[in-house]
Amino acid sequence: MTATEIRQAFLDFFVSKGHTIVPSAPIVIKNDPTLMFTNAGMNQFKDIFLGEAPAKAPRVADTQRCLRVSGKHNDLEEVGIDTYHHTMFEMLGNWSFGDYFKKEAIAWSWELLTEVYKLPKDRLYVTYFEGDEKEGLEKDTETYDLWKQYVDEAHILPGNKKDNFWEMGETGPCGPCSEVHFDSRPDNERAEVSGATLVNADHDQVIEIWNDVFMQFNRLKGGALQPLPAKHVDTGMGFERLVRVLQGKSSNYDTDVFQPMIQFIAEKSGKTYNSAAKPGDADWSSAVAMRVLADHIRAISFAIADGQLPASNKAGYVIRRILRRAVRYSYQTLGFKEPFFNQLVPLLAEQFKGVFDNLYSQKDFVQKVILEEEVSFLRTLEQGIKYFDDYYEKTFVRTGKTSDGNEIQLLFPGEMAFKLYDTYGFPIDLTQLMARERDTLINMETFEAALQEQKSRSRAASIIDTQDWVVLKDDETSTFTGYDETETIAHVVKYRKV
Ligand code: ATP
Ligand code: MG
Ligand code: MG
Ligand code: MG
Repeated sequence: MTATEIRQAFLDFFVSKGHTIVPSAPIVIKNDPTLMFTNAGMNQFKDIFLGEAPAKAPRVADTQRCLRVSGKHNDLEEVGIDTYHHTMFEMLGNWSFGDYFKKEAIAWSWELLTEVYKLPKDRLYVTYFEGDEKEGLEKDTETYDLWKQYVDEAHILPGNKKDNFWEMGETGPCGPCSEVHFDSRPDNERAEVSGATLVNADHDQVIEIWNDVFMQFNRLKGGALQPLPAKHVDTGMGFERLVRVLQGKSSNYDTDVFQPMIQFIAEKSGKTYNSAAKPGDADWSSAVAMRVLADHIRAISFAIADGQLPASNKAGYVIRRILRRAVRYSYQTLGFKEPFFNQLVPLLAEQFKGVFDNLYSQKDFVQKVILEEEVSFLRTLEQGIKYFDDYYEKTFVRTGKTSDGNEIQLLFPGEMAFKLYDTYGFPIDLTQLMARERDTLINMETFEAALQEQKSRSRAASIIDTQDWVVLKDDETSTFTGYDETETIAHVVKYRKV
């Protein structure tokens, strides 16, 4: 089946089960202080689950464009390195608003996967919530018993609160969830180690494809749980992962969702894409770069088409950071000395015609915005890379000794990272990435100190900040990016210390 057929089969299946198909919400969320970007199919139905808006239909299904680059769900660092996390992806979903519950949801998940898509049953694993005594949460035996009708017991696995209990926030709807995982390892490897032991082990070939959430409680202030009068179902299946298992591939990038883009990039760069390259191989870095470009163009294009331009702060800076990350790979790893990244837009727009038409209708605008961003960053990129490399090769000392004589790894000075940020426009996570490529970490304490110093200076001079990094007062830096977590702009960057 082609990706297009796979998507359609999902929607048709849920129509046959009485669902109304609804459009995807935009990837960019405006006017919601709790979330910058749509990161799951359920976001657009939040008010229904909270009882603050009526459901237009009791059963709906859709494909939702999602972005996971900030807040609770930040997969950016996996992208290009692993084979199944993207920045932007489609989440296929079906919902019941106070209508059907576990029995139907589980039966239909199984029917779709094994009868419509004909996935081999012995490669599927499902999970259920094992309970949490400390939290006073019961084991979800109902889900276990329902799965038992279809699935071999050795393939039904318990999961903890982190993976198998979903909460919208500190208060509000919550409940157990049940995931479906697929084991696509070759038979000889499967004979050696059971898939069950790998389900939650971040194994590249044993991946989660679907998550069924059963909202059955309301968490009150103070923590008590109350049964919900109307129970809801919220499911999400990663479209690109589904396509990959159905097309029998070992990487999402080997499917027809990504191959046209990857081949275009390969052809233009004069390099061959080697899907099987491993870290350390000569063609590993170009393979990563091609995957990153093919991925990031989706995040950036849809963000722009949905109304979020790259900018120097907040959500706009998240987009600019991803864009600059892509441009650095394009320039340094793939050798594009002239703007290239923007040229991926027409191909992408064509691909999503009839799915998310708003990209096609704005493709010229989107391409122009990306081109301008590229031109602007390319002005300083080369000098920045040279500055980094020179320092690294001529001045940086990798190891030192503590006072008691132990050898330690030294950090890349935060002041240098600040200079790259301030003078050359390198977002700190880009510099961190470049440092990691050389097995080094940045000293984030001194980086932050340099930022603070700049902040005081600019405050003193009352200069309006025109740099990328807009340093806000502490009380201004909070941007809610998840229902149960707050994040500061500075925190978008993951701080790591040795
Ligand atoms: P994972 O554990 O693999 O990171 P998740 O548990 O964070 O996935 P959910 O929040 O349960 O994912 O989202 C529902 C489904 O969306 C997942 O089962 C998966 O198929 C898909 N998905 C989640 N994150 C990504 C991503 N970054 N790229 C592509 N698909 C994703
Ligand atoms: Mg995840
Ligand atoms: Mg998971
Ligand atoms: Mg999950």
